[in-house]
Amino acid sequence: MNFEEFFAERLQTLKSAGDYRIFAELERCAGDFPRARRHADGAVEDVTVWCSNDYMGMGQHPEVLAAMKAAIDQHGAGAGGTRNISGTNHLHILLERALADLHGKQAALIFTSGYVANMTALSTLAAKTPDCIVYSDALNHNSMIEGLRHSRAEKRIFKHNDAADLDRLMAADDPARPKLVMFESVYSMDGDVAPLDEILSVCEAHGALSYLDEVHAVGMYGPRGGGVAEREGVMDRVSVIQGTLAKAFGVIGGYVAASANTIDFIRSFGAGFIFTTALPPAVAAGALKSVEIVKQAPELRARHQERAARLKQKLRAAGLPVMPSECHIVPVLVGDPIACRRASDLLLERHAIYVQPINYPTVAHGTERLRLTPTPFHTDAQMDALTAALCDVWRDLDLQHAA
Ligand code: PLP
Repeated sequence: MNFEEFFAERLQTLKSAGDYRIFAELERCAGDFPRARRHADGAVEDVTVWCSNDYMGMGQHPEVLAAMKAAIDQHGAGAGGTRNISGTNHLHILLERALADLHGKQAALIFTSGYVANMTALSTLAAKTPDCIVYSDALNHNSMIEGLRHSRAEKRIFKHNDAADLDRLMAADDPARPKLVMFESVYSMDGDVAPLDEILSVCEAHGALSYLDEVHAVGMYGPRGGGVAEREGVMDRVSVIQGTLAKAFGVIGGYVAASANTIDFIRSFGAGFIFTTALPPAVAAGALKSVEIVKQAPELRARHQERAARLKQKLRAAGLPVMPSECHIVPVLVGDPIACRRASDLLLERHAIYVQPINYPTVAHGTERLRLTPTPFHTDAQMDALTAALCDVWRDLDLQHAA
């Protein structure tokens, strides 16, 4: 096998399909978010970022930065090992307590990312529970799917956000077998929200463990930012809530929150927890500060929602095809991979606006889109500039407007 030729050929296939990923080389500017500096061909220019998952700009919050700097001075750079060798630090414990409190659970466990949290928790729960059947929403994130695959548990895929389909599938299985249902609250590519009450009622009727990924909701929904489950008053009915420290909390890391026994089970059997070095104490300090601030910042959540509504309104008024999102995520349909890549390139080159194209396999063929994430820091003037730039690009590429 000639590996070089094989790799080059496969990459060329991606490029021809318009699905090859190109990343802008950015320097985030703390204090000036969503502005960033872009490096290209030896030159540097200022751009406005419209696709960051630092949803609430916490990645530049002065108190978060101060907490991280202080922790580096006090505790050094790394954690010193895996948690069970010598890597459990006081700050890890404080962060886990703060997260358990955020979700009204007995305990929480942190991981090096949200991806690792899903992969580890789901593979552990599904693999170590004898004879378990896992029911997975059709649009679940790759990290959940990989956790399930790794577990080798039997699986059923239920129609997206369809509690009746879930009920039908569960009713067809042996009532005595243990069941685990995995789903998300906010689906981040379409911006739609799961019917939590309905899905949880089905879980309860069949005695299933419910596992809810709130990665795109924690910090942003509910009176204290506990997520959609908090907003809808159902947090206590969810068996395991999973979240990230990398999006609304602006740092990095992931976690699960659940009963003390569930968390101890994942801690004791989860390879992705046991066999990898713990988060640096400074990261835990930054995340802890961010969680503490966000818990008490309903005005930040309100401003975030207001900015998202405002952007949707402006884009719709300009006739742009905004997809029907129910949350802070604003997808604009392009419907073709090459045009989507080209639209993103034109926005960057002509208008100094950075929005990544979202193509297959992140979304289905024919539904390629630009995914905009307005934050509390995006101004009206920046929204107007974005709207004008999108109209220019839509005209130039002869893209579809809203029906
Ligand atoms: N779950 C969902 C639904 C996601 O969209 C993502 C990442 O975007 C993750 C989990 C992984 O989270 P993290 O970025 O913290 O690894």
